[in-house]
Order: sequence, then C-alpha cells, then structure tokens
Amino acid sequence: MNTVESNPSKHGTAIFDALQRALPGAIARMKLKAPLVLSTSRRVDLAEKVKETLNGQIAGIFSEATMHTPTHVTDKAVEYAKAQGADSLISIGGGTTVGLGKAISVRTGLPHICIPTTYSGSEVTPILGETEDGIKKTRSGPKILPDTVIYDSSLTMTVPAAVSATSGVNAIAHAVEALYSRQANDDISTKAMDGIGYLVNGLPLILENPAHEHGRSIVQKGAWLCGSCLAGVDMAIHHKLCHTLGGSFNLPHAEIHTAVLPHALSYNAPYIPDAMEKLARAFPDSNGDAIHGLNVLLSKLNVKRAAKDFGMKEEDIDKAADLALTRPYWNPRPIERAPIRELLRRVWAGEEAR
Ligand code: NAD
Repeated sequence: MNTVESNPSKHGTAIFDALQRALPGAIARMKLKAPLVLSTSRRVDLAEKVKETLNGQIAGIFSEATMHTPTHVTDKAVEYAKAQGADSLISIGGGTTVGLGKAISVRTGLPHICIPTTYSGSEVTPILGETEDGIKKTRSGPKILPDTVIYDSSLTMTVPAAVSATSGVNAIAHAVEALYSRQANDDISTKAMDGIGYLVNGLPLILENPAHEHGRSIVQKGAWLCGSCLAGVDMAIHHKLCHTLGGSFNLPHAEIHTAVLPHALSYNAPYIPDAMEKLARAFPDSNGDAIHGLNVLLSKLNVKRAAKDFGMKEEDIDKAADLALTRPYWNPRPIERAPIRELLRRVWAGEEAR
C-alpha cells in the first residue's frame, strides 16, 4: 500500500493555522479567560499547539485522558481544573479526550469547546460513556453536549491511516444502527446514508495517502453526519456489545467496533430487510448484499478483524455474553444468549461474517 511520509513541521504549521482561524474567536465570543486544555499523553503536542495559539493564556494542560473515560481520571481532572482556576475546557484529540471534556463539564458546569481529530462523532452527541469498576455505563443529557465544536480537516492529517480506517468504521457503525433504530425516521436515514457514502468513498483515499485533502474533508463530513445519527436515535446490539467489550475488557474502541460490526449486522439481518436493502446500496461492492459490501470495504481498509489480536481472551467470550444480556439495549432481533455467544466467539476468532 502506498503511503505518503508525514511532514511534522508542515503539519505543525497547518495545525497552528487551523486553530488560529477559529479558536481565539470562539474564546472571545464565549468570554473565556482561563481554559483548561485536555489531551491524551500521546497527543500532548496538540494541547501545546492550543496553548501557543492562545499566547499561553490558559489555566493549564491536563494530558491524562484515557480511553473509556475511567471515573478516577475524571476525579483527578476535576480537582486540577479547580486548583488551576479554570473557567472552561478545550478538548483536542480523539473521542478519548472529548469524553474527558464531557465528563468534567457535566460535573462542574464548565463550558466545553471541542476540537475533534478522529471520526468518533462524540463531539456532537449528548452521550457520555464512563467506566467504573470494570463496567462502562452510558448516560445522556443536554448538559453533556459540548458548547462549541471546531472542525477543520487539516487537524486530522497526522492521524495514521490504520487509525483513520477503524475510526471511520466506528462512524459507519453509528449510521448502520441508526437505520434500524426503533426511532429511525427519514431524516436520520438520509443522514446515515449520506454519512456512510462520504466514508465509503473517502476512507480508501486516506488509506492510499493519509494527506489526501479531499479524502480527509469528506471523511470528516461523514463522521459528523454519522455522529448526528448517534445523537439522534437509540443504538442497539452492536453498540451494546462494543461498550461491553471496551469497558469490561479494556479493548480499543474503534478497533472493536470494526471487528463487531459485520457480525452485529448479520445477527440482525433477517429482522431488518429495509435497512439491509438501503445498506446494500451504500456499499458500492455489495452486489446487493450489505454484509458482503461491508466485508469488501474492511478488506480494502486492511483492518484487523479478530478481537483476540486486541487482547480479548477466549474465556472472556462467556463473560461478555453474560454482560451483553445484562440491561440489554432494545434490538430488532431478541437478544438470546446462545447466538450472542456464537457472535462473540466469531468476533474473538476473527471469522468473516456471513
Ligand atoms: P482516541 O481518542 O483514543 O484516538 C484514537 C487514536 O488516534 C489514538 O492513538 C490517538 O493518539 C490518535 N490520534 C488522535 N488524534 C490524532 C492526531 N491529530 N494525530 C495523530 N493521531 C491522533 O480514540 P477514538 O476512537 O477517537 O475515541 C474512542 C473513545 O471515544 C472511547 O472512549 C469511546 O467510548 C468514546 N466515544 C464516545 C462517543 C459518544 O458519543 N459518547 C462516540 C464515539 C466514541
């Protein structure tokens, strides 16, 4: 596969320019004086760029955002925000950092500016998933929704192709489940189909060349539409399984969405003929079969498909099946343990969905 070497100094300038275009104006409009900037430890460079853009006028940087939003990290961040006299939050990075921003904001009431750099879509949802004692619980409410979102696809250029691929499939998963949600409607279905269309077209461009400007632009647009689907209607078994596997076994979020999606779709397929027909149209290589179309896309994107490769153990299959049946989400097909266990076994092994 051809990839283009990234050029750190060129990207650093592009990130500064992108932040300069939108962030100082947003800070001024919201009358903020001392934002706390949030990042993961690996992407603290992004937080430093925010600090540079704001001429150092920040309350501090908290760079311990952790996937699945463990509550003990949020507790520490809230203490830090208070100690530093923060009057607001700026989260910059992927869904991990956005999640921490939401968790602090909902506890403290601090306004939250969100600058997403992956395709999780979390920035447009009023949903917060938090993990405590190995259980990931999800809640929803208007105070969780970030106050301002700054999108600029030049901020996504440094996201590696492989990360972009799974993050993009995470976005597709929101749209897929929106099509068969119990609250599905024409508006959401249009957004879902448009969102999938952008992602299906754009992700292969990014795989070939991570600096592909048009690819980055349409994939970000697709992720925004798919995030709006997640915000608009309830999700079903796919998201329940991913929350269970991510939160309880600490498996990586987007990678697990990618491994589970074809199997969740296959589980529901006989119960959702209309959605399957729409999806078959969304995947150009489907030959009228949505699962085949999705499998072809995943092969093109060269993604890993076996949860055992992300650290899931064989003995976790039964534990995950039990957890998936605890407080199940509504799903078009009844949730039954034996087929769910088999679904999870196939995800663990990386078998292709049919
Ligand atoms: P992430 O934030 O951990 O990012 C994935 C990877 O991308 C990381 O390795 C990160 O270092 C890298 N990355 C991010 N920005 C980058 C950049 N500019 N350049 C280079 N690399 C970059 O993971 P994610 O998949 O974006 O988000 C997962 C988290 O988001 C989970 O905790 C999940 O629960 C949450 N989430 C929440 C919602 C919601 O609506 N509440 C929706 C989706 C995901």
